Amino acid sequence: MTLEVVASLGAPYRIVALAAGKQATLLARQAAETGARAVAVFDERTAQELRKALPKGVAPEILVGPAGLVALAERGDVDIVLSAVVGGAGLPAALAAVRAGKRLALANKEALVMAGDLVMSEAARAGAEVIPVDSEHSAIFQSLAGGKRSEVRRVLLTASGGPFYRRPVADLAAVTPQDALNHPTWSMGPKITIDSATLMNKSLEVIEAHHLFGLSADQIHVIIHRESTVHSLVEFIDGSCIAQLGPPNMRTPIQYALTYPERRPAPWPRLDLAMLGRLHFEEPDMAKFPALALGFEVVRRGGSLGAALSGADETAVAAFLEGQLRFTDMVPLVKRVLDAHQWVATPTLAEILTADTWAREEAKRCRPFFTTCKRPSR
Ligand code: MG
Repeated sequence: MTLEVVASLGAPYRIVALAAGKQATLLARQAAETGARAVAVFDERTAQELRKALPKGVAPEILVGPAGLVALAERGDVDIVLSAVVGGAGLPAALAAVRAGKRLALANKEALVMAGDLVMSEAARAGAEVIPVDSEHSAIFQSLAGGKRSEVRRVLLTASGGPFYRRPVADLAAVTPQDALNHPTWSMGPKITIDSATLMNKSLEVIEAHHLFGLSADQIHVIIHRESTVHSLVEFIDGSCIAQLGPPNMRTPIQYALTYPERRPAPWPRLDLAMLGRLHFEEPDMAKFPALALGFEVVRRGGSLGAALSGADETAVAAFLEGQLRFTDMVPLVKRVLDAHQWVATPTLAEILTADTWAREEAKRCRPFFTTCKRPSR
């Protein structure tokens, strides 16, 4: 999507470097189309495939592994780093980008969930901007322009509620990975789609909003909005609410993160309010979706708890997708890990990474205490 946005914007925007996991064929095509000078891939095997897949005359520098991702983020010819890495794997490159003074256009919320204090303080020190790409946070960021920070009463973070919001709680245990991967309004990768179905994604977004905008837990309110049209709102002290609306299309927040503080024309479909007719809002069901409380707990306690949450959640989602854990056991497993976590108040990067690794191992160790569902039929 970012490549589409950059192509649509035209000069002076251009792709300098690209990172991918294991999709060698797609990366080869994108490198050829964009003329990227450097690419990074997950492992040596993907690098081999990539070398074979690259057309004649296309020879970007190829970097491998986590260090490759960091090297791309630090390049001297890069001004903006857009990170859409999934999970905690995105943290080192996000830190490298802000330390190098780049604008970090951030879609990888786990970097802030794990190490928000560190990322934001390093950004402030280096004079780097962190501009949200997550649609809700882009909406808050845009709405904050409606007043001073000291005039903000609270933000209203909208949540689509995911595919099971209306499903009776008794039926949730039987939800399969295939059911959960069908999101009603947003098309996203598997991890964020599962997180959206449990509302853990909203919990991660509460933590993300806390770090990005310096908001306390009491200043963040989640509201269910099934249509994903109002992407979030800021309520000011005089009672005025400023919102950002648009069709659910990630190209809009991506473009804004690239062009900020300017706005540029965009060719994507526009909002037709008369066609939508009505918009709906309701309070979230905290009992049915216990994940939601965890984000607020992490904001209140801070320290290493976010890293533990992120690591445990990634492990729980992977176990669910593998058919080793029921849908309704993901959040209790994460909660059990958080309860056992040896909390560190002001963790260093090393302590954050240790908390993440520990949480993954603890989640794997505890997983057999929860019910295993049938392996998904393939
Ligand atoms: Mg979001």
